[in-house]
Amino acid sequence: MPAGRPSKQTPAPGGPVVYSMENHPNREDPYIKKLFDRFMDKVHTIPETACWWWVGAALPAGYGLTRVSGEKWLAHRLSYMIHTGYHPAGYVVMHTCDNPCCVNPHHLRLGSQQDNISDMIAKGRAHHGRG
Ligand SMILES: [Zn+2]
Repeated sequence: MPAGRPSKQTPAPGGPVVYSMENHPNREDPYIKKLFDRFMDKVHTIPETACWWWVGAALPAGYGLTRVSGEKWLAHRLSYMIHTGYHPAGYVVMHTCDNPCCVNPHHLRLGSQQDNISDMIAKGRAHHGRG
């Protein structure tokens, strides 16, 4: 099963390898090339935060939206999939930068639904500060 295809694989929670087009194991695969090209076309990098701003279609909540072979994908989930080769099915792809429209694979991590809830609670508390 070639990495990077939208196929069902067992994701690696924690820290999977993040590939760029230059070091992607399937860089010779025209399908992967096209996927990367189309994806990076819609990305605007923000030097200050290193965030990759999704400039394509987006949901009201700010999450980028795109299609692969007619299938709807949230842009950050697709980014995770094409840059790591792991399909995030059954997992939540979370932002470490708290920027919903960011698609930088280095700012994304895989978690369970429970991780996501814990994360939101922790951040909610942090916002209130002390007192
Ligand atoms: Zn980011």
